[in-house]
Amino acid sequence: MTAEGKTFHKSPELKGIVQRQLDRSYHSPLIDKVRASGFSLKAGCLEIHLAEEFGFCYGVERAVEYAYETRARFPDRRIFLTNEIIHNPRVNAELQGMGVKILTDQASRSEITEKDVVIMPAFGVPVEALREFQKKRCVIVDTTCGSVMSVWRRVESYSRDGFTSVIHGKYDHEETRATCSRAAKYLVVKDRRQAEQVCQYIAGLGPATIRRTGPSSGGTRDSFLASFKDACSEGFNPDKDLGKIGFANQTTMLSRESIEISDMLRDALRVRYGEGELPDRFRHFDTICSATQDRQDAIRELGEKKMDVILVIGGYRSSNTGHLVEIASEFCPAFHVEDATSLISQEKIRHKKTGARDILETSGWLPPGKIKVGITAGASTPNRVVEEVIQRLIDISGGT
Ligand code: SF4
Repeated sequence: MTAEGKTFHKSPELKGIVQRQLDRSYHSPLIDKVRASGFSLKAGCLEIHLAEEFGFCYGVERAVEYAYETRARFPDRRIFLTNEIIHNPRVNAELQGMGVKILTDQASRSEITEKDVVIMPAFGVPVEALREFQKKRCVIVDTTCGSVMSVWRRVESYSRDGFTSVIHGKYDHEETRATCSRAAKYLVVKDRRQAEQVCQYIAGLGPATIRRTGPSSGGTRDSFLASFKDACSEGFNPDKDLGKIGFANQTTMLSRESIEISDMLRDALRVRYGEGELPDRFRHFDTICSATQDRQDAIRELGEKKMDVILVIGGYRSSNTGHLVEIASEFCPAFHVEDATSLISQEKIRHKKTGARDILETSGWLPPGKIKVGITAGASTPNRVVEEVIQRLIDISGGT
């Protein structure tokens, strides 16, 4: 897997050894039971409905197993994670409890030696970081999800063919940083509003319009670059680099928004250069992973069943969890909670609003009487955490 570092591959024998540990920490007999009984459960005045797809995705499951196997394979070595393995505090804390250290800055990275083991997370690492660890000749355990690698292959192909990668994502998310590092030229747009600005700029492109001034043209070159500071490649020149666009997305974005942004960019290029030039100027590939799509479809189905309230469980830094909250909120009040402790009482809940940074406490979140509560969980949330939230919900509502 690496040119200079040594590679550790997953092995069936080790999987057998760590399976008990994984089951103990993350498995939930209650969730198995709820799944088996049509994804619903009655307790007192509560009717609890689970989304039909939720929790650990294939990429996260593999990364977590890989990390546990690494500990079992190298009991005497120092093991480091380049970052959180996934965005779930419980899982990261368990690994830290097993002596795995998270590298927080360059100083801590400089202490790595060839005797150490470095685990790369499910969302991958930037090329420069990979090279740095390869040079150290340490053991590298690469748990990058295959769906993330397929985004990398896509942007690499755009770069080879002279296209700028426009990535629908969050520029400071680990996965997007890793993807950007594989593109010769890139621009990251986080939402429709930013995409609209890019489209207006494209509409104003051309030799006669270089001195654009009005807001309808997407602003001046300097104001455009100021808006996308940190979200574009070094030396990005919107006058030249928006003429040929390859579209991709962070795997965990809201798929509906990604499709809209892709269509907006295609239309802008069509308007600017004409239909005939479109094949040479626009490429598109939907890189939302199937696990993200399945969870988004499932929360929509759950919302359509008319819940009174929906709980979305997941780490506050988890991008895919945030998008599940966004969808759930279209149907009824929805709360992004991290774990059972977020359900303070029947009266009060601790949660995070979509797009906000702060954690809030809200009163009167659980309506009285007979209610239907929908539950889902982000792709990095273990079933055990979902079970604890259900149990806590039953306890505070006085159900049995
Ligand atoms: S959310 Fe998708 S891309 Fe990310 S780890 Fe899971 S399966 Fe892989």
